[in-house]
Amino acid sequence: MSTQPNLTIDGLIAELLALGQISEAEPPVVTRVVFSKADMRARAYVRGLCESAGLTLREDAIGNTFARWEGIDQSLAPIGTGSHIDAIPNAGLYDGCVGVLGGLEAIRVLKQLGYKPRRSIELVIFTSEEPTRFGIGCLGSRMMAGVLPAEKALALRDKEGNGLDELRTKAGFSGALESIVQSYGRFHQFVELHIEQGPYLEQEGLDVGLVTHIAAPASLRIVIEGEGGHAGGKLMPGRKDALAAAAVLVLALESAAKSTGAIDTVGTVGVCEVFPGAVNSIPSRVKLETDIRDIDRARRDSVLDALRSECTGVAERRGVTVTTELVNADPPTVCDEAILSALEESAKAAGKTYKRMVARAYHDTSFVSCIAPVAMLFIPCRGGVSHRPDEYASPEWIGSGVHVLARTLAKLAE
Ligand SMILES: [Zn+2]
Repeated sequence: MSTQPNLTIDGLIAELLALGQISEAEPPVVTRVVFSKADMRARAYVRGLCESAGLTLREDAIGNTFARWEGIDQSLAPIGTGSHIDAIPNAGLYDGCVGVLGGLEAIRVLKQLGYKPRRSIELVIFTSEEPTRFGIGCLGSRMMAGVLPAEKALALRDKEGNGLDELRTKAGFSGALESIVQSYGRFHQFVELHIEQGPYLEQEGLDVGLVTHIAAPASLRIVIEGEGGHAGGKLMPGRKDALAAAAVLVLALESAAKSTGAIDTVGTVGVCEVFPGAVNSIPSRVKLETDIRDIDRARRDSVLDALRSECTGVAERRGVTVTTELVNADPPTVCDEAILSALEESAKAAGKTYKRMVARAYHDTSFVSCIAPVAMLFIPCRGGVSHRPDEYASPEWIGSGVHVLARTLAKLAE
């Protein structure tokens, strides 16, 4: 691409603000849970923008939306870009939406410049990246990747007991869930623009981040059954205090995560439910929800194994029963060097500062990596704040991201 794109992103910022107005909460607070009225209105808004840009729309059986700019050679696998527009309760304007509307803007800029891609370029809006409704993140991309099989998806329910099938049908998405699954090569390459959701690009004064790895979580649910009783009446010898056993496991996870010696290994116990939960009652049952992440699967799984073995140990030593359930263990992603080089060349050509970095939170791209070579492009967000109404990315940051993305898509689609 020889011409400098003439990026006036006022239109894009106006669209981001307009999309933010479509919310179940009072704007500027954004709440847009999948298949809610707000989600459906937001989808219609974005589809309208894609149609105005001359893109061809298609939706799959779960509502993943594909807006395609036909390339010169339609027999070739397309270049993909995109993200999500659903938002957790009490969220902000930019998570996901920057990747969808920014991706669309990149396509519009290339069109304005008269660029004719050899490969088609496809903008994807993934269904339910956030786990709010069904308790599982990246629903749409996960199903595309075949990581969540149809029969398991059909068992998903929201808090009100509504099944996934019923909800997606009501939302107007039909067809066999099996048809969502795509095979490797669905996209020639895929790149997602996203806010960093961490503070480092802003702190270092950099325009963009090129994501080399995406960490992925494994989550182990642990239930400890001990013996309850009166906190005064029952003396210390012979107690089977479920919370005291849980405390050992919390510390065991911390030390296992630290012991890998890798900065990328993290382990967290984010949920601890104590039963019966009275001050004068010995805890008889505790449920822990743990989250272990890394960019290296074997290293992450070694921490998981250490935690599991301590579950057995603590059960023996303390006479409690410990049961574990692996809730999920998603694959960490290694990004594609060819896309990273294209991003790097594009950042240089656009005069933007950048660094290579790791994505700590997972994204739809994590699952797209099962069906295509992938990478991600991060832009800063103020204070690293995300998943809050005060989430913010400046027009300059967004403009830099769109500029680098546009150049990259042009290069990849050549
Ligand atoms: Zn996101």
